[in-house]
Amino acid sequence: MRYFPLFIDTQTLPVLVVGAGEVAARKIELLLKTQAQITVVAPEVCDTVRQFAEHQRINLIHADFAENMLDGKKLVFVATNNQALNQQIHQHATARGIMANVVDNPPLCHFITPSIIDRSPLVIAMSSSGVAPVLLRYMRQKLEGLLPQNLSLLAKFSERFREQVKGALKTVTERRYFWEDVLEGDIAEQIVQGNEQKAESMFLERLAQGQPSQGEVYLVGAGPGDPDLLTFRALRLMQKADVVLYDRLVSPQILELVRRDAEKIYVGKAKNLHTLPQEDINHLLVRLAKEGNRVVRLKGGDPFIFGRGGEELETLIEEGIQFQVVPGITAASGAASYAGIPLTHRDHAQSVVFATGHLQDNTINLDWPALVQKNQTIVFYMGLTGLPVICQQLIAHGMSPQQPIAIVTSATLAKQKVVCATLEDIQEKAAAANVQPPSLIIVGSVVTLHEKLNWFDGATAASAVITNNAPV
Ligand code: SAH
Repeated sequence: MRYFPLFIDTQTLPVLVVGAGEVAARKIELLLKTQAQITVVAPEVCDTVRQFAEHQRINLIHADFAENMLDGKKLVFVATNNQALNQQIHQHATARGIMANVVDNPPLCHFITPSIIDRSPLVIAMSSSGVAPVLLRYMRQKLEGLLPQNLSLLAKFSERFREQVKGALKTVTERRYFWEDVLEGDIAEQIVQGNEQKAESMFLERLAQGQPSQGEVYLVGAGPGDPDLLTFRALRLMQKADVVLYDRLVSPQILELVRRDAEKIYVGKAKNLHTLPQEDINHLLVRLAKEGNRVVRLKGGDPFIFGRGGEELETLIEEGIQFQVVPGITAASGAASYAGIPLTHRDHAQSVVFATGHLQDNTINLDWPALVQKNQTIVFYMGLTGLPVICQQLIAHGMSPQQPIAIVTSATLAKQKVVCATLEDIQEKAAAANVQPPSLIIVGSVVTLHEKLNWFDGATAASAVITNNAPV
């Protein structure tokens, strides 16, 4: 960040504007929205500025600039068309430690003025650091459209009741929950529509009720990795969280979207390296919620598909903790779409099974005959280490050694890799491609469609920007 944004209190701010043409007039107009004491100096004055002076809104000095006019000033705006003079004023200001802004001349600016969306007391100031003005204007227009004109009513309402709420609710967290509840719900709706009295009585009633002291747990599916695949609800809850418990499959790009002030706790789990045993995670969730936190339990993919979400909920229910579950795109869906391998297809498969390929004592405990069915796609989660066993068992139960199989690694992320082979030679090809977790295995003739339907190019993917941090 080259330019540091800040909001200056203008109540006692003496400002000098040098120049009184149309360009200066636009700066003065902006300053007149504030309470700054504005002095304008110029030998020639345009009509707009003259009118400001006539209405006593500015102090106009009808003369050439002189150095002593900077005495006691904090900011100076320079808008003359005499470049030598502009340069000179910049130097004087620099020598006196006064901040100068020479209009349209960034090298001579100690500060730049942002693009503003004014819903006072709510003010949004934006800048492109002077490098992308068209993009800035575009973003500003978009934001303008999003923000209701009556937003200032909401801000004024908040200001009016701020102290009263402080008196009624003891902790910062309680107050934050209360205000969020007010600002997201029916009370805000009434305020924005101008029904202030009704809003006020609803508000006071809500305040009298107080806030529940116990928090909640949100079990949220974060999808397979690409942040664009989050649901709106997941994002909303992530933005509300006080604490987030996340595991290894949650990509850094997704963690970036969690509320900045939320505490983030990593709870594992790499294979054979459980950072926190499941039991401890369950109890941590309970403890944090009982302390009054809004806890997001963020899981890769979908929480109810090989996510142990069910077990976590059982503990919450036993302890009487409120919760919500937010589905996520499971790895099978993400990998299938981004690898161009439909899991079902009229000509190939009428059913699809999700199975765990997790190895225990060198075996995989699955009903193999049920898996080896005609026209059925099998998706193995957690199957990379058990790949030899999977291939061997499928063949032993009657599948052709030439059956197509694919491994999709880091699905939906920029570094996604797809290795297609047959049951016979997949191990060799996987080794050659140095396949790493997280990997999903897809078995079935649908795999042959990859060649035709493949569309995803990691190198140009949105997530490519931060690929180096993607989960392994
Ligand atoms: N609840 C998760 C699955 C957790 S089990 C879901 O619904 O997706 C962990 C396994 O999911 C990994 O071993 C791997 O097989 C698979 N997986 C998760 N994310 C993946 C990704 N981006 N690419 C490939 N496989 C993934």
